[in-house]
Amino acid sequence: MPSPIVGLHHVTAIASDPQRNLDFYTEVLGLRFVKRTVNFDDPGTYHFYFGDDGGAPGTILTFFPWPRASRGQTGVGEVTKTAFSVPLSSLAYWEQRLSELSVPVERTGKRFEEEVLTFADPDGMKIEIVGHADAGAANAPRFAAVPPDHAIRGFFGVTLYEKSADATAAILNVMGFKQIAEEGNRLRFASEGSALGNHIDLLIDANGAYGRSGAGTVHHIAFRASDDAAQLEWREEIAKHLDVTPVLDRTYFQSIYFREPGGVLFELATDPPGFTLDEPVESLGEELRIPEWLEPRREAIEKRILPITLHKSMPPIELQTAAGKTV
Ligand code: ZN
Repeated sequence: MPSPIVGLHHVTAIASDPQRNLDFYTEVLGLRFVKRTVNFDDPGTYHFYFGDDGGAPGTILTFFPWPRASRGQTGVGEVTKTAFSVPLSSLAYWEQRLSELSVPVERTGKRFEEEVLTFADPDGMKIEIVGHADAGAANAPRFAAVPPDHAIRGFFGVTLYEKSADATAAILNVMGFKQIAEEGNRLRFASEGSALGNHIDLLIDANGAYGRSGAGTVHHIAFRASDDAAQLEWREEIAKHLDVTPVLDRTYFQSIYFREPGGVLFELATDPPGFTLDEPVESLGEELRIPEWLEPRREAIEKRILPITLHKSMPPIELQTAAGKTV
């Protein structure tokens, strides 16, 4: 067997207004803007990548911000919730932070062993912050206004909304994800180990309605392949069950795509080469980066995309008074 798929690599969703999307994920959630590029299939529109300080696999949420996109509706055959991971002790911080920033947030309560906060981004995309004991240390974004202790670690996992479980469960098993828990109509699958984004929940509803793609909906989820060789081996395994695309060059990773039987588009993306391929880690996201083959069209592309401004907030610093008191 190829080396294991340890968890999610990235989640890609659709947004509308690019500036509003950028502001929410950097200034409210404190993620780093790790790449400012365009949709390679539609270079007149942006492709944004957010993540931890270096844009590590398992932390990357990406968006196609289409300014004129109308709002979508989530439904069966789609990802309905994208969950981030924080330590259990940070949940109160996040509940307060979101409330203070006028983001309606609901403390959903305990789900399996974890505490969950649920809210929506400006396009209505449903986000969860999951507080749990195994959140690990953060590679906290250098410009975020969120204290590093409370920084979003990366993904906890996603929830797929499905009419039935069996066929999706079978392909998850092929990929090395085993069912580890069940609660009502929610089945939880996890890979071995504790990589970020290693939880895939199936929420089963035989009567669930189909959704409509648009702003606020997830386009696809990508899992991690350790390298090109592992990706090719996994491609062979998956092709025994489903149609899989050839390997596509996504500049920052190599990708294959397949639609799982319940309808969600899956991708398998390589960890290398990553986001420091074309700019240093210190200045990730500050300038528009496009692949070599699009450079001849740079001027036309820059004319078509809306100008955006990245506000780099500095981390909060603790001030010591002469008496040694922290203020
Ligand atoms: Zn992708």
